[in-house]
Amino acid sequence: MVNGLGETLRVGFGFDVHRFAAGRPLILGGVRLEHDQGLDGHSDADVLAHAVIDALLGAAGLGDIGRWFPDTDPRYRGADSLGLLAQVVERLHAEGWRVVNVDATVVAEAPRLAPHAGAMAANLARILEVEAGRVNIKAATSEGMGFTGRREGIAAFAVCLLARSQGA
Ligand code: MG
Repeated sequence: MVNGLGETLRVGFGFDVHRFAAGRPLILGGVRLEHDQGLDGHSDADVLAHAVIDALLGAAGLGDIGRWFPDTDPRYRGADSLGLLAQVVERLHAEGWRVVNVDATVVAEAPRLAPHAGAMAANLARILEVEAGRVNIKAATSEGMGFTGRREGIAAFAVCLLARSQGA
C-alpha cells in the first residue's frame, strides 16, 4: 500500500503475556508501577514493550522478539525492554522505515493502569523517535474472566504502522 507521499505502508501486530510473580518489579512501557507482584520473565518482563517490539518487527517483516532476543541468551537476563525496543528502532531506521503510529491495549485486572498510560506512551514515543501523539496506550480489564481476570498475569496487544519512501 502506498500513501499520498509515495511511501510504502506496512501494518504490524504484536501480542504478549507474562505471568505475575512475587518479588519482581512491575514495569509496563518503561514505567515502574507500585503493586504487590511483578511480572515473571527473562528480561524485565515489560509485556507492553514486548508487544510493541513484535508489532514493529512484524510490520518490517523481521520475525519476532524471540528470534532477536532469545530468552536463553544470558545477555538479556533482566534486560531493560526499552533498550531492546531501541535496538529494533535502530534497525528499522537503517532499513528506511519510520514509525507512523503505535496503538496498544494492556489487559490487567490490577493495578489500575489508566493513570499511567500517558507516561507509558511518552516513554515509548521517545524511544520510537516520534511525537507523543503518535503513541496511544489503552488500559482494559477482562471483567474478571480468564487468566487476566484471575490476576494470574498481564496481556498486551499492539498494532503499528510503518512507512518508508519507495526508493529506500
Ligand atoms: Mg515477553
